[in-house]
Amino acid sequence: MMDKVHDDILDENKKIFDIVKKHYKEYFIYAIKRKWLEIPDELPYKEIGFGYLKKVDNRNISFDSEKEYLRWVLENAPFHLYKSLSYMEYPEAVGGAHQKKILKREMAFDIDVHRVKKCTHKDDNWICKYCLEEAKHQAFILIDEFLIPDFGLSKNDLKIVFSGNRGYHIYIKPQDEDIKNIIEHWDRYQRRYFIEYIMGKNLNLNYVGSGWRRRILNNIKNKQIRNQLSKTRNWRQIIDKKNENDKNKILSAIENTKNRLELDEKVMEDDIRLLRVVGSLHGYTGFRVKEIKYNSLEYFNPLNHAVFSKFNKEYYSIKINQKIDSLRIDDKLYTSRSKEIPVSVLLFLFGHNVDFEILD
Ligand SMILES: [Zn+2]
Repeated sequence: MMDKVHDDILDENKKIFDIVKKHYKEYFIYAIKRKWLEIPDELPYKEIGFGYLKKVDNRNISFDSEKEYLRWVLENAPFHLYKSLSYMEYPEAVGGAHQKKILKREMAFDIDVHRVKKCTHKDDNWICKYCLEEAKHQAFILIDEFLIPDFGLSKNDLKIVFSGNRGYHIYIKPQDEDIKNIIEHWDRYQRRYFIEYIMGKNLNLNYVGSGWRRRILNNIKNKQIRNQLSKTRNWRQIIDKKNENDKNKILSAIENTKNRLELDEKVMEDDIRLLRVVGSLHGYTGFRVKEIKYNSLEYFNPLNHAVFSKFNKEYYSIKINQKIDSLRIDDKLYTSRSKEIPVSVLLFLFGHNVDFEILD
């Protein structure tokens, strides 16, 4: 009897997996036709990785030609698809940077936010407009408060990509070839220094540079303190003379300013790091990994705009066998009691391991 029940569950899982895969394939056919799918530049030097149920089941793959790569994507319709940030002499070699021989590396930040206080869901892995807003807010902080003012980059030097979940990938692609060449040849220690600057890790209160001074002063309300601090680089001297109350005000403003970004440091540092291919789908949500122009970012709402529109048009009859947080996609609300769901919701439930059945 138990074996029979077990087999039925396996059959149901297989049935759902096949349906999900069919829709990923349907998406890739369309995405390749519309040229949404990124062809990593200098493709033969890039490592490709992919996964279905786990993020990366396989890596160390490479393709000599665009045609071969696209044919492979169509054939396999991966739920998670990655390319290396590094250009490598031997991308298919198994092992680390030493075996693969790193030639140069793209620069990218990975913003990946957690649940925020206002979130409407209990499940940490779920998604709602509030955590998505926070992710976007952090993208703006990184771009407007760091990359543009402190590094002299312009918005045309950046490529902004919605990660498909609760985050953004911000690539630095300077239009000036010489600058691009310099930063793409930074080694992991230089990249580490760069991200530590942005996270405020090497902030020295005896010598506060102009970028950090500007950012922290924006967070200090007391005008008198702000005035004093704006006149010198040596903040330690001023802080030491303050009473406890003022001292705490300043120190907490510093901490709050430093802790606004949730950046995955490995994505900047690690030589063999993989990042999602632009134009693929995120296997946990079914959302598009989508490039967004700086000027459209403000209006971008992933719950509407990162969903492949065809996925909102075909419906399945289902029964959900567990309690789930509610989910709003394309301005419609879905709950444990929903009986008709579009493909977009089906992919999300599947990606979040929700126990449900598809009724015939
Ligand atoms: Zn949320």
